[in-house]
Amino acid sequence: MTVSWSISQTKGVTLRLTFILFVLVFAGCLFGIWTRPVGLLASVWPANALMLGMLLRVPKIATPLGWLAGAMAFLLADLLTGSELFIALILNAANLFSIATAYFILSRLSVDLLRLRHPVAMLYILLGAACGGVSAGLVGSLANPYFFDGNMLNGFTFWWITEVVNYVAILPIFLSASWSQVSLYYPNRWGNRSYDWLPALAVVVSCMAMLLIGGPGAVAFPVLALLWCALVYSVFCTAILTLLCSVLALLSLSASSYHLIFSGVDDAALFSIRLGASVVAVAPIMLAIVIRNRNELMEKLRHLSNHDALTGAASRASFLIEATRSVEERQYPHAVMMIDLDHFKLINDQYGHAAGDKALKDTTSQIKTCLRPKDLIGRMGGEEFAVLLVNCHPADAVIVAQRICSAVASQPVALPGGVSLQVTTSIGLSFAERGEPVSLERLLADADAALYQSKGAGRNRVTCSTSDTCRASSQPG
Ligand code: GH3
Ligand code: MG
Ligand code: MG
Repeated sequence: MTVSWSISQTKGVTLRLTFILFVLVFAGCLFGIWTRPVGLLASVWPANALMLGMLLRVPKIATPLGWLAGAMAFLLADLLTGSELFIALILNAANLFSIATAYFILSRLSVDLLRLRHPVAMLYILLGAACGGVSAGLVGSLANPYFFDGNMLNGFTFWWITEVVNYVAILPIFLSASWSQVSLYYPNRWGNRSYDWLPALAVVVSCMAMLLIGGPGAVAFPVLALLWCALVYSVFCTAILTLLCSVLALLSLSASSYHLIFSGVDDAALFSIRLGASVVAVAPIMLAIVIRNRNELMEKLRHLSNHDALTGAASRASFLIEATRSVEERQYPHAVMMIDLDHFKLINDQYGHAAGDKALKDTTSQIKTCLRPKDLIGRMGGEEFAVLLVNCHPADAVIVAQRICSAVASQPVALPGGVSLQVTTSIGLSFAERGEPVSLERLLADADAALYQSKGAGRNRVTCSTSDTCRASSQPG
């Protein structure tokens, strides 16, 4: 019952995605037809790249039904906008032939490459686009003399480059789209973001210069601004801005070159402009991937250097930096705890180091359950932890410390083979009132001295550094 329900639900999702493919391709065709000068081929033809992008991102719709839905969308868009059936069939066969060729190559890439996790992925995209373009070019070389009174070579190069530029500009958006990338920035980018709108402004300015100054070199005007975007924005956002620049370049520059090309004066101009636009589109996205990878690596390294790998608590150095900053601000009352696991060496000796490691991990988790997100916990070494309770009055700190002591003692550590191990802790506490000029070193030293009193008094207990603040050591009930 549940299995058949989930199968029919999966089928429903696939059908819905196939329908989305149909709608996207149909809309892409209408957009392409809208940008098409009368009687000529489109200068921007996103439909092929949209279909290829969908098939690559959602492989489960790359079924005969998916291909049929795409083919129907192509045909319907042409027929509804007044194309003859025969011409529509030939042109759309070329589209599908091109998509199939590019799909054949790109679907063989690893998931990492397909999700643009490596900069070299853009070169593979270029390769897939170039091969898809060859298929379209072959049809174009036959169709150009027949439908457009042109020669075969022109037909090939014109169709080929149109495919390449459209694939290269649109595919990266599909392949890089994810929830984390939809955000404007890299999810883990740090630093001052106040001027992050500047690269986008530079894109707008360079696009305006492209439109106003024009000329064959204008296609390169936005490159610098796009490279700047790649340094600041996510791969997805860089891909979107790159696409916008490419579309603008193609629409304005290609259109103005038509009379040159089709009057036979300069049939290389359009080819050159489109090839230029393709190269322009690859570079910023490659750079955005490199920067994203670098940022992720930096974040991993930062996390590794700031955290203890075994327990996930802050490293000693990171705890000392953060806690010192907090204590020196003197905005709040603070409490410092030193926590030491009791007779930990015996656990290692009796059950082995793996069991000791598990006890350390589980104990840290137990301690964390008793802390608030703003409190700091650091592993000071071996089986010793320090905790800074931020904005915490002494009486509350004692309650927290006792809670930790009880929580650890009452939750045995489960070892393989059904063995459960009771772990206890000894805790020392020290306090700093709000505004009191006391250093973290002093607080740690006082808490450490109190911890040794807990050990001396029989372990598994809390002792405070100042007996008048916190009457006496207390044993968890
Ligand atoms: P006490 O109750 O007086 O604190 O005694 P203890 O045995 O807990 O203290 P002692 O300082 O004698 O032993 C601490 C042990 O902790 C010695 C060391 O081998 C072990 N240890 C330190 N770091 C790790 C670790 O990362 N993993 C494991 N498994 N053991 C560790
Ligand atoms: Mg110990
Ligand atoms: Mg110790």
